[in-house]
Amino acid sequence: MNESREEITRIGFVGLGNMGWPMAHLLDTNYTLKVHDAQTELAASFAAEHRATATTSLREIGEHSDAVITMLPNGDIVREVTLGSRDGLIGGMKAGSVLIDMSSSAPLGTRQLGKDLQDHNISLVDAPVSGGVVGAQKGSLSIMAGGEADQVARCRPVLEQLGRAIYEMGASGTGHTMKALNNYCSAVGLSAACEALIVGDRMGLDPAQMIDVLNSSSGRNANTEGQVAQDILNRSFNVGFTVGLMAKDVGIAAGVSEALSMETPILTSTRNLWRDAEQLLGGSASVAEVVKLWEEWNNRELGTGPE
Ligand code: NAD
Repeated sequence: MNESREEITRIGFVGLGNMGWPMAHLLDTNYTLKVHDAQTELAASFAAEHRATATTSLREIGEHSDAVITMLPNGDIVREVTLGSRDGLIGGMKAGSVLIDMSSSAPLGTRQLGKDLQDHNISLVDAPVSGGVVGAQKGSLSIMAGGEADQVARCRPVLEQLGRAIYEMGASGTGHTMKALNNYCSAVGLSAACEALIVGDRMGLDPAQMIDVLNSSSGRNANTEGQVAQDILNRSFNVGFTVGLMAKDVGIAAGVSEALSMETPILTSTRNLWRDAEQLLGGSASVAEVVKLWEEWNNRELGTGPE
């Protein structure tokens, strides 16, 4: 058990990308903020625009902070940033401080990192988010927290600056498990909608009307409601979440299932499908571009109509 339950007033923030920047932006009024990103110019321009200081040293981030928030591409990077022998948060973090990993990391790695940090009397709370860049900008993210209950309670005022719904999921790694399973469900919803649209289109249905019908019927999901008409049918493909990140998240969910020796065929085929998408489209493509998979496989663009 960790000793300190002191109020968090000084925050270090690592990872100022699509999500991290708008999240850190919501913290600078109420907290003393120090920021870091591997792209040093990002941290410097954040500090220039906010009540925050930038540093190129992770040790300094650790030294400064009651809590360090990480918003990084994956758990391996979080581990390296935290424990890295050349420069890591661990070189500066004090006993009683807490690491809040808001990245979508793999839960088994999170559990191991939590154990490693316990040896230094540092707590780990996993608190990944859903709601995308818009949710990050508005502070309306949904946050799934795992870790010791008193540490999650200690972090709650910080999390409440960033999200509207904060779910306490249970022990270390449960937040990251929930996040991977959520994105698996989202990936299935998006893939199923694309598949249905391309079949319907060839049968002479109008894709725009199909979306109207789905959205007032039992086939609707967050993607049919918020993404297909807005980003796919008009081919703007304007979603700030990438194929690479989705492939990673579905891979994490499949990895959990495999580690538990469970039979999950839809999860396996969804993992393979998003791996194909990453190969075909590249990791930095928007998730909305996944429709191009079915276009490639069927040699026709969505909206071509019946043959
Ligand atoms: P991003 O690639 O835009 O940002 C990641 C940032 O981390 C970059 O600025 C990068 O320079 C920095 N970084 C990478 N390695 C680093 C290191 N070793 N040290 C310091 N900084 C480093 O990614 P994002 O879209 O902001 O996503 C961040 C996390 O949030 C991911 O785990 C992702 O799965 C998750 N997430 C993203 C979204 C979304 O809509 N984009 C939504 C929910 C959750």
